[in-house]
Amino acid sequence: MERTLVVETLKKVGEEVKLQGWIDSIRDHGKITFIDLRDRSGKLQCVGNNLPKVTVESVIEVIGKVTDRPEKLINQNLDTGKVEVQIEELSLVSSASEIPIPLDTDGYDIEEEVRMKYRYLDLRRRRMARNLRIRSKVANFMRRWLLERDFVEIETPILTKTTPEGARDFLVPSRLQRGKFYALPQSPQQYKQLLMVAGFERYFQLARCFRDEDPRRDRAYGEFTQLDIEMSFITQEDILNLTEALFTELVKEVFPEKKITKSPWPRISHKDAISKYKSDKPDLRKNKNDPDELAFAWIIDFPLFSEQSKEDFYYGSGSSKFAPSHHMFTAPHPEDISLLETDPTKVRGLQHDMVLNGYEVGGGSIRIHQPEIQAKIFDLIGFSEKQKKEFEHMLTAFKYGVPPHGGIAPGVDRFTYVTLGEPSIREVMAFPTSASGQTAVMDAPSEASQGQLEELGIKIGKK
Ligand code: ASP
Repeated sequence: MERTLVVETLKKVGEEVKLQGWIDSIRDHGKITFIDLRDRSGKLQCVGNNLPKVTVESVIEVIGKVTDRPEKLINQNLDTGKVEVQIEELSLVSSASEIPIPLDTDGYDIEEEVRMKYRYLDLRRRRMARNLRIRSKVANFMRRWLLERDFVEIETPILTKTTPEGARDFLVPSRLQRGKFYALPQSPQQYKQLLMVAGFERYFQLARCFRDEDPRRDRAYGEFTQLDIEMSFITQEDILNLTEALFTELVKEVFPEKKITKSPWPRISHKDAISKYKSDKPDLRKNKNDPDELAFAWIIDFPLFSEQSKEDFYYGSGSSKFAPSHHMFTAPHPEDISLLETDPTKVRGLQHDMVLNGYEVGGGSIRIHQPEIQAKIFDLIGFSEKQKKEFEHMLTAFKYGVPPHGGIAPGVDRFTYVTLGEPSIREVMAFPTSASGQTAVMDAPSEASQGQLEELGIKIGKK
């Protein structure tokens, strides 16, 4: 007999079916026992007597007949609430030990470390299973929408060289070239610009980015995914319009219950945002208690530089007052180029931030495509000769015919968690790294063996 999914039983009243799944709950009324069986499609009540002893969350197979429930026993809260299955045969496929965390709640009050240790159980929770399914829909909508518009999906390397986005790099030691290190990309920024030099004109990637930053609620420690986009022969206006259309249609399809506060999205200069809302990511919802309101906005006309602080350890290492507000490839506003010489603090950058309900959910810019301006920016942020050398490949590439280009990178997990109103980005990631930097289930980072360290030429010093 072929397997039937529990939702399909609604159309099979009177038929004998074979079901496979997990025991969601057991209600033992002496002679008669009710088992809710759960599979990927939902839950269904199964009824039987003299059943073998089984435990909650065990995997079972049930053969039985689908029957209509009497009118007054219909369960409106269950998709399959009109029917039930009369168990003829129940076999235990794999029995479950006592489950260490409750799975029938939303799980918010369970300690995160325990949820991460047993993440494969935590993901059985209805809320988490729903979140990951929605995330998959979000990612697939993006992919489909862009492919229909002549974009090319291209993967870029994970083992690479530093691409600073304002965080620390994760380093990977090289065995073949002892004493040297790869850096995991903080974003594919340089590769996507090189792909523009290569002539692709429209690129995207659901890109994994790695940033060693102090964990915050809205930033994932370690890694996260962004929809990385880059285009040639476009203006900032084109990037904003494309992104706005993509997200407006995405919300309509994947989150039909949500209402966008204002369309077209308000565009606010950085200066106005600060003076009016005291924030460069203002929350423009009309009613902050309404979970279905999505207030998107664009923040534009950022200053190209911000004051260099201790956190900007990468840039000029204290030898300059300036750090890039966005990143060092962002183009200065064409009207402000001459100010680069006289008053860099007044230069506006062609940066755009995408804001949603008070969170920055994406950012991007028009890029510098003139090698001499790029070199000037390197000087202004105080790059040493050695640091300049690390980015020489960009200046070299720009010698061979580079189209004007720009892009954006909305966060996939970021957008999804803010839209769902979840309290943390980790609620939409399958196996996130915990707030304390420990990976889910596998408990990395862990020590390397002496042999591995020797091969790499690494000695661990005392703290
Ligand atoms: N690379 C930037 C980031 O990850 C986005 C961009 O400029 O397109 O924040």
